Amino acid sequence: MRPTKAIVRLDAIVHNLGVAARLAPGSKNVPVIKANAYGHGAVEVARALAPHAPALALACMDEAVALREAGIDHPLLVLQGPNSAGDVAEAASSGIWLMLQDPRQVRWAAATRLRTPLTAWLKVDTGMHRLGLAPDTLPQAVAALRESDCARDEMVISTHLSSADETDSRATTDQLAAFNRATAGLALPRSIANSAGILYWPDTHAEWNRPGYLLYGNEPAINEGPAAAPLKPVMTLASEVIAVRTIEAGEGVGYGLRWRAERRSRIGTIPVGYGDGYPRHAPSGTPVRVNGVNVPLVGIVSMDAITVDLSDVEDAGIGSPVELWGANLSVNDVAQSAGTIGYELLAGLTARVPVESQGHESRGQSRGSE
Ligand SMILES: *Cc1c(COP(=O)(O)O)cnc(C)c1O
Repeated sequence: MRPTKAIVRLDAIVHNLGVAARLAPGSKNVPVIKANAYGHGAVEVARALAPHAPALALACMDEAVALREAGIDHPLLVLQGPNSAGDVAEAASSGIWLMLQDPRQVRWAAATRLRTPLTAWLKVDTGMHRLGLAPDTLPQAVAALRESDCARDEMVISTHLSSADETDSRATTDQLAAFNRATAGLALPRSIANSAGILYWPDTHAEWNRPGYLLYGNEPAINEGPAAAPLKPVMTLASEVIAVRTIEAGEGVGYGLRWRAERRSRIGTIPVGYGDGYPRHAPSGTPVRVNGVNVPLVGIVSMDAITVDLSDVEDAGIGSPVELWGANLSVNDVAQSAGTIGYELLAGLTARVPVESQGHESRGQSRGSE
């Protein structure tokens, strides 16, 4: 087997959910496990988190149905709501909660005859202008759902924050004020905070929070918030050096020979590339950890391999352990070097990378050790 794999500590994810709970003691948390649990393996992560959370959140029905088919019977919340009236019926009958984010979805829910009522959340647009009902239409939507008897009374009113990871931005306070105006007369439970809201904006903590990124051990703010939260690292993207050669000053490495050695250099090759989700835009100099030392990436990232300069790590050779990101090399730092965010790197891992989950008893189902 190729040595490249994502090692995932499920117990650390459970720990990080506990951190969210301690930061917002009055809130219930719906862990967000969309996009294959941000690359960590949705089924394994769902099994680990279900005993600790009232529901788990996905982006779309397809993701929720895939978890049902994998045997996850926990309540699931679909953040973008239904794509058809048929989705409403399927959701209601299979314990899937729907976040309704536009008038068409509200009409589908209100018009569908349901044997089991739907658990509906309503989303209001308070300034991000991506999804959500216009604030002045919220009372109508609530009334329509109540009259139709299709939804349970305990609707949760939610919104999404555009800028909570910018700890000095005014946008969050503005959105909070708009949300409070929109929900003032409704006396319904609310949900506002994502990870950044939980970490940096206590005023956004409501009856329900929706932590995603922080569960996976990283903070969303690059310019980091007031106090670093005691999150535990979760994923190590690991590999090994599979080839080493010495080149002379002036010789080039990789496609286009875009990096040239300034001195005699020992070049190591690692079997990971953009075909695995390692970012092609990572420039020479991006840190890669070999034998416990950060060395620079050199040359263009190719589909199946990267090259690094091992000249300063004498004991590194074929078989030396590699950390592309993990406990000792933050995915945020690799992302910053590549001009993106850690979210994209985690969610962008491809199916070629096996996920080895560890640290959770799941009735013999886990592929991991322990
Ligand atoms: C993805 C998502 C979240 C989680 O966001 P993080 O920044 O990962 O915590 C919460 N709410 C909604 C609606 C989302 O789409």
